Amino acid sequence: MNKDCIFCKIVAGEIPAKMAHRANGIMAIEDVNPQAPVHLLVFPERHVADIAEHTFKGSADEIACLMEIAAELGAKNAGGFRLVVNTGPDGGQTVGHLHVHVLAGRPLMWPPG
Ligand code: AMP
Ligand code: ZN
Repeated sequence: MNKDCIFCKIVAGEIPAKMAHRANGIMAIEDVNPQAPVHLLVFPERHVADIAEHTFKGSADEIACLMEIAAELGAKNAGGFRLVVNTGPDGGQTVGHLHVHVLAGRPLMWPPG
């Protein structure tokens, strides 16, 4: 656990969140500032800073589980969905704990800003 990390605090129950899924070290919560009618965040319970750090640690199984859960949650929306992994300052990452955004419930524009 990273004591300064919002998502680690959610994992520890120190900050409340609306849980959408929790199993096998992976958690999904509702985003507090939703950008679409469905906006979930899927992340590993253990602290990993971002997808680049994760790749270097060679934990492909965990990435696969993360994407599988994100896709399962997204697929509940008949109209389709989008998975997003913002990474680093130029990627728009504001929380330094790896997470996958699941966006759905309205047509999403492309390209993103
Ligand atoms: P990103 O900007 O890609 O790092 O995404 C971080 C996301 O976390 C943003 O969409 C925020 O709205 C969301 N967020 C920040 N704090 C919380 C919180 N306490 N509970 C739920 N979502 C949060
Ligand atoms: Zn963390």
